[in-house]
Amino acid sequence: MNRLQITDIAELDHFKMLKIDSHTHIIPKKMPNWSEKFGYGDFIYLQHHKKGFAKMMRGNQFFREIHENAWNPELRINEYAKFDTQVQVVCTIPVMFSYWAKPLDCLSLSQFLNDHIGKLVKKFPKNYIGLGSVPMQDTELAVKELERLKKIGLKGIQVGSNINDENLNEERFFPIFQTCEKLGLAVLVHPWNMMGEKKMQRYWLPWLVGMPAETSRAICSLIFGGIFEKLPKLRVMFAHAGGSFLPTIGRIKHGFDCRPDLVAIDNAIDPRKYLGKFWVDSVTHDELMLEYVLKLQGSNRVMLGSDYPFPLGDLEIGRFIEEMDLTEKTKADIFHLSALEWLNMNKENFID
Ligand SMILES: [Zn+2]
Repeated sequence: MNRLQITDIAELDHFKMLKIDSHTHIIPKKMPNWSEKFGYGDFIYLQHHKKGFAKMMRGNQFFREIHENAWNPELRINEYAKFDTQVQVVCTIPVMFSYWAKPLDCLSLSQFLNDHIGKLVKKFPKNYIGLGSVPMQDTELAVKELERLKKIGLKGIQVGSNINDENLNEERFFPIFQTCEKLGLAVLVHPWNMMGEKKMQRYWLPWLVGMPAETSRAICSLIFGGIFEKLPKLRVMFAHAGGSFLPTIGRIKHGFDCRPDLVAIDNAIDPRKYLGKFWVDSVTHDELMLEYVLKLQGSNRVMLGSDYPFPLGDLEIGRFIEEMDLTEKTKADIFHLSALEWLNMNKENFID
């Protein structure tokens, strides 16, 4: 190989596009047995039953098996390198939210998880960005924890699509979102506690049907409840490309027009006006759907997301996006610019 070629390769490497995966989950390898510690409840604990694997147990019930890539940061960095992706935005696994628990117990659990992520981002600042958890069932405790988690280096929080079946526009949650806006913390809304779950146990329907519906429920609640109007600087991202919200926006808008007496009671602004105001990730598994999402949202409000390390995720970390016929600018938006804006961070944080 002559010298010129070496330089070319070096330059290519240098200009390789920065990629930030905005939606991944992580859990500490070791956690207290919360149910024993608190003396009640089906909290999650880990049974490391064989090397490299653990069973997540909910009380005595098996919930799911996870692999070492759910907790080992170096292993994750290596797996991501195979897909040329340097940065992962990490948050807990939604089953850890524990909004049903006593508020102070949920606070200690959240703080344990937040401290774990805080240490991780400190150790690997070029590879990890952290989102925390807060006890949404107690506004005051949640607000205090927001202030604390910002100090330990987290850039935002992940919240459920409903909180013990209450929608996110309920008054009691407003101070939490208001504090996120004030502190400049990003918000990821992730579907959990899926509606109808108990009535549709077969065929994985809570995940395939419930989750997209939950995300639309959260978006509609925040729009119709006027939360985006009251907090115009709040930066919110919705998982799984916004679930069923974008594919059903025509119906939602028509409902708003034909029955304002039911829909427009707290906010008189057309729901379509909010397209491109919030962010969504790219987890669609479908090129045509991603093209549609890009059209509705604009590429600066769509970002690479994978839901790694879980099987329903895009475990090739956006390879299908690479293969789509998109402009370099669109790819730069999806692969890092949108996420940087959502997180209020700079590209320089991640390049040497
Ligand atoms: Zn997820």
